[in-house]
Amino acid sequence: MESILIVDDDVNICTMLSEELTEIGYDTYFLTSGQGVLEYVQNNQVDLILLDLKMPSKNGFEVLQELHYNNLNIRVIVLTAYADVQSAIEAANLGASDFISKPYDFDELLITIRKTVQREV
Ligand SMILES: [Mg+2]
Repeated sequence: MESILIVDDDVNICTMLSEELTEIGYDTYFLTSGQGVLEYVQNNQVDLILLDLKMPSKNGFEVLQELHYNNLNIRVIVLTAYADVQSAIEAANLGASDFISKPYDFDELLITIRKTVQREV
């Protein structure tokens, strides 16, 4: 199964998503800050990132930019409570594959994850 990195400053969301996805069979790891993402993906196999946008110190847009500048073509699904059109466009321009609003519906999220991991990067 694919490995999924969850990045959200809300540790409850991280642990909940991690448990739900692990139960289905995905390998999961989570970070509660955008700071460690680059280092983690450079040293570990990551097939998909579930990325929160609003985080202190380094937000989701900055993480997307950082991945892009380092030529790391990893699929990213943005998961955010701030699901407005402008954020969606900006995230897509920075390489995000899809956009899910919080509170997320797990079945909808799962469909999006399955669709995204099948897609070519
Ligand atoms: Mg947040």
